[in-house]
Amino acid sequence: LLEVKSVSKRFQEGTVDTQVLTSVDLQVFKGEQLAIIGTSGSGKSTLLHIMGTLDKPSSGHVFMLGEDLYGLSPRRQSEVRNQDLGFIYQFHHLLPEFSALENVAMPALIQGRNRKEVEVEAKALLERVGLGHRFDHTPGEMSGGERQRTAIARALINKPKLVLADEPTGNLDATSGEAVYELIRELANQLGTAFVVVTHDAKLAARMDRQLKMKDGHLQSEQLTDVEGKAS
Ligand code: ATP
Ligand code: MG
Repeated sequence: LLEVKSVSKRFQEGTVDTQVLTSVDLQVFKGEQLAIIGTSGSGKSTLLHIMGTLDKPSSGHVFMLGEDLYGLSPRRQSEVRNQDLGFIYQFHHLLPEFSALENVAMPALIQGRNRKEVEVEAKALLERVGLGHRFDHTPGEMSGGERQRTAIARALINKPKLVLADEPTGNLDATSGEAVYELIRELANQLGTAFVVVTHDAKLAARMDRQLKMKDGHLQSEQLTDVEGKAS
């Protein structure tokens, strides 16, 4: 589905010169759940941003279904970002003045999709993440776990092929964190959406199909045993 090929990233700003990623190779297969673990500052978020066209590699390529994401026109690149990718962040980034339903519907409405249809889908997604009773609540009127589940529903509204999640349970207690991972697993299995989840929590990472470890800008060699049979 997505292939990272010898991607390096170096930040050079003023006197600061930081080599963050060194020749990273990674394949994400259709529908799989992949965890990337590693200590703080090891480059996990940087890699995720590059996979999601949110930041450019200094060298190397990222291919999604054969397309070189950094060789595309800006227009095609944002099309891929909006249609094929979904994002979940540590802090949900929901719009505070809008209801859960409106937040989930937003990315689809921005795409110009039919309002009625979007509303039906957004409700179904919220029900799926266990928030059928919270359509009209604003983020301020929900718990941390409910907000994060709303953010998951929002990431799925445009039916992305791949969802990138950066510490999606970073601000949740252990029980809500586990529930979020269970939900991600369930959705991945039901919808066939691939998930790449960055976390420092080894226990949560172990719940995914496969885990890779980031260390000093290098990704530990891949273990492919768990994904046999899943096509790229
Ligand atoms: P954490 O677990 O704390 O979120 P991380 O693995 O996600 O860490 P990154 O955010 O990818 O780490 O950052 C990796 C390294 O790159 C850090 O040492 C950071 O200081 C550096 N870095 C990130 N962004 C920039 C930037 N814009 N300019 C300079 N250095 C940066
Ligand atoms: Mg990070």
